[in-house]
Formats: sequence, C-alpha cells, structure tokens
Amino acid sequence: MGYRFGKRVKFYLGCVLEVIYGRANNCMLCGDFAEDMLCKSCQSKIKYSVIEGEVEKEGIRFKYYSCAYYNSLVKEMIIRLKYKSDFDCGVLLTQLMERLIREKEISFDYITYVPCSEEAFRKRGYNQSEFLSKKLSELTGKSVIHCLIKSKSTKDQIGLDRDARWTNLENSFVVENYKAIKDKKILLIDDVITTGATAFYCGKALLLCGCREVNILTAAKSAI
Ligand SMILES: [Zn+2]
Repeated sequence: MGYRFGKRVKFYLGCVLEVIYGRANNCMLCGDFAEDMLCKSCQSKIKYSVIEGEVEKEGIRFKYYSCAYYNSLVKEMIIRLKYKSDFDCGVLLTQLMERLIREKEISFDYITYVPCSEEAFRKRGYNQSEFLSKKLSELTGKSVIHCLIKSKSTKDQIGLDRDARWTNLENSFVVENYKAIKDKKILLIDDVITTGATAFYCGKALLLCGCREVNILTAAKSAI
C-alpha cells in the first residue's frame, strides 16, 4: 500500500516539479553536460520525425502520427516512463508530440488516452499515456477527458504476432462520459504504436459512442 502511494505521489510531483526547481546541467539520459534536458548527442539520437500513417479494419480508418522511431534511446525513455516513474522522459516526449501537433496542424477538441488494465494501474500506480496526455494538455491548452476503460483483461501484446495482437484486443474497450465526446474531435494518445490494434479498438469504441473524428498520436512508432 505504502509503495503504491509513494508511486502515486511521485506521479503528481512529476507533473509540477520542473516548474518549482531549475534543472541541473546534466543530460537526463547519459549524465553528460547538457544545456537542456538532453545533451546534443542524445538529442541527435532520438531523431524527431514526422511519422504518419493509417490503421484500417472493418471499414473504419484512423490516421495516426508519431514523433520518433522506436530506436534504442527512445525505447529506453519509454521504459523509464512506463516502469520506472521517470516522468522527465515523459515531459521530453510530450515536447516532441506538441511540436508535431503544431507542424501538422492537427485540430481536435479534446485529448484522451489509451487506458491500461486495472491490474497494470494497481501495479504501477499510474498510466503513462495519461501522464503524456496531461502534459500535452498543458502545452496545447486542450482538456484531457477520461472516457476509455479497458473492459476485459487481455494478454500482454509483447510476444504476440500480428494477427494475435488484433484478436487479443478485439472489442476490449468501453466508453464512459460519452455525452461529453458527442460530435467532438478527439486526439487519442498512447506511448507506442505497433500494429495499431490497441489504438484502433479505442478509436472504434469512441466513434461508436458518437464522437465525430479520432486521430491517434503516439510518442513512438515501432515495427513489430
Ligand atoms: Zn546525453
């Protein structure tokens, strides 16, 4: 219980700490001297990119955007954010995501995020995609709306092949708060897109509940 509480506190602190304290002059990834959060070398390895594509199934199509490929450094940042409560990594990723929103002029009314299972939430104390959404909300001025729930527990997508990933997630998300999203344009946030199955079924659930349009934005794009 104390451990979980501690993680929760760290989550909220992560949202505000950098406002209160200045940053030390060390790269958050390698520890070398840095004028910003990252040294020049790590910055160049992350390689901000404008990645766009579509995920289509059952006659429904969503546009997705990602701002980096899932290379070793980006993978490390996402693992730190997801499993080690390293929210600085999340802050940095949202800066890249916000840049992509501006450059591609993506318009939306609300931000929402891919939910994690109750079990994962209990274990980690937070949802990394919710964290990314909250930081993006600060940067864009658009509200985050909580509306997706994972309605059934599914196997971890890691280790499943392409077809199994789709079957595993089929219709496993439900929507609450659907009055608030009716006729709205939603920006759906996740940390990584791989096959797009997770984002697709979240987007489908949102469309079925009356929202007008869903676009997907993830920090990274991974090949399976
Ligand atoms: Zn570095």
